[in-house]
Amino acid sequence: MQTKIFKISADTPDVLAIHECASIIKEGGLVAFPTETVYGLGASATDENAAKKIYAAKGRPSDNPLIIHVASPDDASIYAYTNELYEKLAKAFMPGPLTVILKKKDIVPFEVTGGLDTVAVRCPAHSIALSLIEAAGVAIAAPSANLSGSPSPTRGSHVISDLDGIIDAIIDGGECEIGLESTIVKIEDNKLILLRPGAITADALRCVCENVEISSAVTEALAENEKPISPGMKYRHYAPAVPLILLEGENDTVMKFLHNAQNAERCAILCYHEELYKLRAERIIDIGSESDLQAQAQRLFAALRRVDELDCDVVYAHLPPKDGIGLALYNRLIRAAAHTVIHVNSSNIKHH
Ligand code: AMP
Ligand code: MG
Repeated sequence: MQTKIFKISADTPDVLAIHECASIIKEGGLVAFPTETVYGLGASATDENAAKKIYAAKGRPSDNPLIIHVASPDDASIYAYTNELYEKLAKAFMPGPLTVILKKKDIVPFEVTGGLDTVAVRCPAHSIALSLIEAAGVAIAAPSANLSGSPSPTRGSHVISDLDGIIDAIIDGGECEIGLESTIVKIEDNKLILLRPGAITADALRCVCENVEISSAVTEALAENEKPISPGMKYRHYAPAVPLILLEGENDTVMKFLHNAQNAERCAILCYHEELYKLRAERIIDIGSESDLQAQAQRLFAALRRVDELDCDVVYAHLPPKDGIGLALYNRLIRAAAHTVIHVNSSNIKHH
């Protein structure tokens, strides 16, 4: 398939290109588009065949549901049963990087929800995404626009390398501002269950709803045969081709560990900006300043993709803190690492 590629600036969206892409969506085709979180692979949210095409293009298991994207928070009620807590969340955080799970209406086919009777709804804060949804006149179902298992795309070039020749069109709108996927919450009575951490933090959610429970799957590995509330949690994700190992410990001790590692093996390192001059320059990826978790979030997926271009046998990264947006970074990295963490101390530095 010949994929049309449109390069559009978010400041002055090209109306003709947006309309051409909207027509593709209306006719049941697939269009990848930028959002403030990551790129989405979009199709009409009311078209079951279009949803099937998304799963096929990504190689995604069909029980892993899609998020539907609406042009205005009020439009959620066309597709799902909203409630008071949804309204409060919408007022506080939408448009923005928050996805809310609600009971679905019949208009949303089960192909979109992976067979569930709930649907995930989000209103993205991105001019290209919003004008595309508006022009399509229908919500757009869109998972991240990567091949299943690989890191989510945060640049047009990532989407092109994964999906060129496989989908109808790609809108390249430059780099995503946030770089990690949306926060996902499920509303249960008057409680919010945090299923996937993102840029809207648990503390921010607590300003709207006192009762926020963080699902154990955010930080822990699922037990064998355990059924997750959010099906996507059970899949291997974001992983580079070589093993990723996370390091926890004092910065000085971790640095000694990394020096030894650079001498002993062909390793790549995702390091803090401040550490660049302390390490040998080979296979080093600057992940941003240690204190700037937002910058680290924005760069993480591009860094994980870069690892695959380096000639290495293993990659090391710091274990992020679990508070604020750190929890979102922690969640993505711990899954990319398949929960492999080394607690570095003076004894295990030596026998490395
Ligand atoms: P992606 O957009 O590729 O990051 O994937 C969307 C994620 O949203 C999925 O992996 C699911 O874990 C989650 N999700 C979507 N719909 C639902 C739902 N109805 N219930 C629970 N989780 C959902
Ligand atoms: Mg994804």
